[in-house]
Amino acid sequence: MDPQKYETVIGLEVHAQLRTKTKLFCGCSTEFGKTPNTLTCPVCLGLPGALPVLNAAAAEMAVKLALAVHARINPRSQFSRKNYFYPDLPKGYQITQYHHPIAEEGWLRIDGSGRPKIIGIERINLEEDAGKSIHDGLPDSSEKTSLDFNRSGVPLLEIVGRPDLSSASEAAEFLQLLRATLQYLEICDGNMEEGSLRCDANLSLKEKGSSTMGVKTEIKNLNSFRFLQKALDYEAERQAAEIAAGRPIRQETRLWDPVRNRTWPMRSKEEAHDYRYFPEPDLPLLVLDENFMERAKASLPELPQEKVERLIETYRIPAYDANLMAQSRGLADYFERTAALLENPKAASNWIMREVLQYLHGQRIDIGQFPIPAERLADLIRRVDDGTLTLTAAKDIVFPKMIAGGKEASAIVVEEGLGQIADEEALKKTAREIVAANPGPLKQYREGKRQVFGFFVGLMMKETKGRANAPLAHKILKEILDGDKGSS
Ligand code: ZN
Ligand code: MN
Repeated sequence: MDPQKYETVIGLEVHAQLRTKTKLFCGCSTEFGKTPNTLTCPVCLGLPGALPVLNAAAAEMAVKLALAVHARINPRSQFSRKNYFYPDLPKGYQITQYHHPIAEEGWLRIDGSGRPKIIGIERINLEEDAGKSIHDGLPDSSEKTSLDFNRSGVPLLEIVGRPDLSSASEAAEFLQLLRATLQYLEICDGNMEEGSLRCDANLSLKEKGSSTMGVKTEIKNLNSFRFLQKALDYEAERQAAEIAAGRPIRQETRLWDPVRNRTWPMRSKEEAHDYRYFPEPDLPLLVLDENFMERAKASLPELPQEKVERLIETYRIPAYDANLMAQSRGLADYFERTAALLENPKAASNWIMREVLQYLHGQRIDIGQFPIPAERLADLIRRVDDGTLTLTAAKDIVFPKMIAGGKEASAIVVEEGLGQIADEEALKKTAREIVAANPGPLKQYREGKRQVFGFFVGLMMKETKGRANAPLAHKILKEILDGDKGSS
């Protein structure tokens, strides 16, 4: 796509599953992964005559998100029926919000690689999830579809973002921040693989400087940050190519195919549903009183953006580090506990950004399952800082052994004989022996062939099995080679 010619306009719509114990309108459990159809009752199976009753915990969670994204909360909101037929929707309609959602007009501020940008949130709807159709893994799966209604009636927040995003990376950043916000609030686990967080994205191209919006397409069910970015990049290119070829963009819903790395049309506007929304007659208006709002406000934790600002201020670490540390509450806590024990907090974020995060990603675990307690990591970092352990030995030997064996750094240093040699007299002695044993290279060095210095450093490290304190070894060698002619 030619960025001189077009601007990309992207909006996200996100469904977040709320972490309530029970469903939105009945007392059935919301637990994931249970035997199909064991968590059901007449209400969530849509049996005739069954009546819904709103779960107050879900409303409180919706209000928390609304407050966190600076949205206007409607003291009176309304549930509506969204009518459509699908086998996993036994009532023939979904209870959602339409005319009067629980909250409107919110925003989040993304960092935009140093160019902060406000991304609008049009509305937040409280709604129920549908059941699940299972097509694979069954006997005769080519002919049958099975239905699991355990998920039917699980509470969701539908978060409709404004089309304020202008690139795939901005979209990913917005989704990361929204996910972190939901997780900080402890109202959604944010697990995209299990479907607790689902994302649809719409994209259109607009000619630079023009005020006319292009025709948009919507890409459904993007279940990872990588797919979101790839699908949006692909779709921008595809639309640009269509326009260049003189073909109009069709308003349609498309699906991302991760195998072929492209999007495919799923259904066009002509096939779009008319949902015939109307107010849900079985539920009263949802009225939020002052007490309810105050309680929700009082229970808000420190939010991701506030945490980033505080980490920068308190520990004087770069914004880049602070953003990484604040990606989860657990990681930020770990960083703070480590940094509190160090003179140089930047050393803590360095270790966490590289060694710790690399290990967590590799093992696909989160910081709560990381085997090294913060105090022990701080102890390891201090040993490097005060020169008793080389950085290489700390990273390559001690750190992996601390993970594997649950031992403290001090025990591993003793076992492995890793104590760094920072004893000036001992290093001088070794250096003199090395220089004396190599008169040829010494002569070359003194004749001006300065690159021979590296040869001596190499010998020094070999002689001390890599334990020599490097800056000190350099200083001593230089003194001996340069001037200390008489004493060698
Ligand atoms: Zn139920
Ligand atoms: Mn929805």
